[in-house]
This record gives sequence, structure tokens and C-alpha cells, in this order.
Amino acid sequence: IKDMAILSTGEKIENLKFRKQLEDKLKREQRKLSKRFLVAKKSNKNLSESKNYQKQRIKVAKIHEKIMNMRTDFLNKLSMDIIKNHDIICIEDLNTKGLLHNHKLAKSIADVSWASFINKLEYKAKWYGKEIIKVDRLYPSSQICSVCGYKDGKKTLDIREWTCPICHTHHDRDINASKNILAEGLRIRQAV
Ligand SMILES: [Zn+2]
Repeated sequence: IKDMAILSTGEKIENLKFRKQLEDKLKREQRKLSKRFLVAKKSNKNLSESKNYQKQRIKVAKIHEKIMNMRTDFLNKLSMDIIKNHDIICIEDLNTKGLLHNHKLAKSIADVSWASFINKLEYKAKWYGKEIIKVDRLYPSSQICSVCGYKDGKKTLDIREWTCPICHTHHDRDINASKNILAEGLRIRQAV
């Protein structure tokens, strides 16, 4: 969730920093909204007649819209940068459909962002005649040493760095994985 994308060049693209602030604000205002909902109910008011509720509803909607616009801008710029600077882009084909059912707000926003990011990459690739290769999400990109090819086995998510026991290269988990995804994508491309 901290990083939006990790490139095989070693570049980590951080998620929007201001997002957290806005999300906290959204949570606060949503709580206020549900309180006003209860107040309206208690006084047997129709929701459409409750001015306080309606005012708060619009406030929440505006924050939603602001978050969405910021995210769209960010993803448009990021996908454009990647498409402009690369001819072949290999990506991990994450199972976003499964992820979309996550109930945690931050996590589900990250998942929606990811799906929308891939979508933007794909249509921009078409516009600019670039190639996108998807690597199966079951490909063990985090397990393989990108330097010597040794398969080190599964790693829990808390392991962010590791050292290959064979060639002794010290890896950043995600950058190593992205190098493997690039190599695997190019291999698939050759095989087709
Ligand atoms: Zn190695």
C-alpha cells in the first residue's frame, strides 16, 4: 500500500502522501453522517427533510470526489510516464477481482487504484503502440534470486529484504521481484 508501483529499474513510486490525510477526513465526516442519520431517524424525520443530514451527505460526496480526482490525475501521469519511456512493459497480473471484496478502506482503495492503473497502462499502450506483457500472478517472483536464478522458497510479507544463500546478493524484496517479472515477461514474449 505504501508504494503504487515498483519498477525493475529500482524505482519505487510512492502512493500519494496526501491521500491518508483525506482518507482520515473522509472517515470523520462519514461518522458524522451516520450520527446525523440516527438523529433524523429518532426524530421521525424523513431524510430528505433533514437539512443537517443532507448538508453532511454533500460534504462526504465532495471528499469522495476530491480523492477520486487526485487519484485519477496521479495514475494518468504515472501510466503516461511509463508508456512514454518504455517500449515493452511487463507487469504482474494481480487478481484484482478477488481483491476487490476487501472490506478495509485503505486496502480496497489501493486495489481499485491498481485495477484502474493497469487499465490506463493498457489503453495508453495501444494508443502509443507499446507492448504490455502480463506475467501470471502464480509466477513466484518473490522467491527467485534475480541474479543467479536460485529459488529460495516462499517468503512471508513481512520479509522486505533477503540475501541469496548462493550468490550472496542482498535483495530488496520488491525490486528483486520486479526484475524477475521483467525477465519472465520477456521470456514469454520470446516463446510466443
Ligand atoms: Zn543468487
